[in-house]
Amino acid sequence: MASLDGHGLLDTLGRPLRNLRVSVTDRCNLRCQYCMPEEEYAWLRRSDLLTFEEIQRLVEIFTELGVDRVRLTGGEPLLRRDLPDLVRLLSAVPAVRDLAMTSNGVLLAGQAAALRSAGLHRVTVSFDTLRPDRFRALTRRDEHAAVMRGIEGVRAAGFTGLKLDTVVIRGVNDDELADLVEFARRVDAEVRFIEYMDVGGATHWSREQVVSRAEILERLERRYGQVAPIREHSSAPAERFRLGDGTTFGIIASTTTPFCRTCDRSRLTADGTWYLCLYAQRGIDLRTPLRDGASRDTLRALIASGWGRRRDRGAEERKDLEAIGHRGVLVQIEGLRQDPRLEMHTRGG
Ligand code: SF4
Repeated sequence: MASLDGHGLLDTLGRPLRNLRVSVTDRCNLRCQYCMPEEEYAWLRRSDLLTFEEIQRLVEIFTELGVDRVRLTGGEPLLRRDLPDLVRLLSAVPAVRDLAMTSNGVLLAGQAAALRSAGLHRVTVSFDTLRPDRFRALTRRDEHAAVMRGIEGVRAAGFTGLKLDTVVIRGVNDDELADLVEFARRVDAEVRFIEYMDVGGATHWSREQVVSRAEILERLERRYGQVAPIREHSSAPAERFRLGDGTTFGIIASTTTPFCRTCDRSRLTADGTWYLCLYAQRGIDLRTPLRDGASRDTLRALIASGWGRRRDRGAEERKDLEAIGHRGVLVQIEGLRQDPRLEMHTRGG
């Protein structure tokens, strides 16, 4: 049963509805090994993609139930034409206190200024390697220089609080941890190391390639000396740490140290399906009632009842499987072809 207290709507584990990740397209201009390793993909139907006005309407209703942080994702969100127009619509929703975007950076240089003047607050760039040859091998695209220009463009546009998200994969980029910390410091960013996750779409995932939080810390301590945890009250997925010289970095350890107990995130796909967990196999269709003319109250009740019944703790359950030796690829390729919404690139990572 949904429960509303002074903090808004709570799920069955007492977790509030606060962070909404809105995927605006399932398309991407990179093919990262940990996300889109296949040659062919099934795509969402274009006619099913929510319009900007439909997204704004849903976001407004979500805010009435507690959401105050919205992150635009994809695929690659900048592939959605006129994205600053959506940013303008969402930044006009008074309850949205934090409006952020995660991008792969390829198209950022040309759009950062327009996004900032439209009201975007913060940008996170996925950035896995400093080496162009490695980037090409990891993403199957030759866009490293464009991403570097994108990072520079974010700074030039006046954004602060830039984050760089790095998926650490053994044998791929795990020898660049310190180099990435140094790079982030030079560009006034904070790097966040993300454990390689066995989410939908990661069809090449293996446990052996996961570099754990503990190992990341150990390697950085070997290089920098003691690393101090930063104590903060936050439902953000990253734990943050400080080096002796004050440089900070984060680790998102969903694979070895899940944080489902405090998870207030949900995801809306570009076709209006609402997922209550990154690992959820089924979502709630909000597009159909929206397009059928459902009232605001009806949509709000649908969302409230979905969150009120939420008991998802996908990453913890995956970890439990590991204990009994059953942790492998989450969804095989045939399943992904039948339902592209199971893909991480569709539900916004
Ligand atoms: S696995 Fe699901 S419940 Fe756990 S932190 Fe991720 S989205 Fe939240």
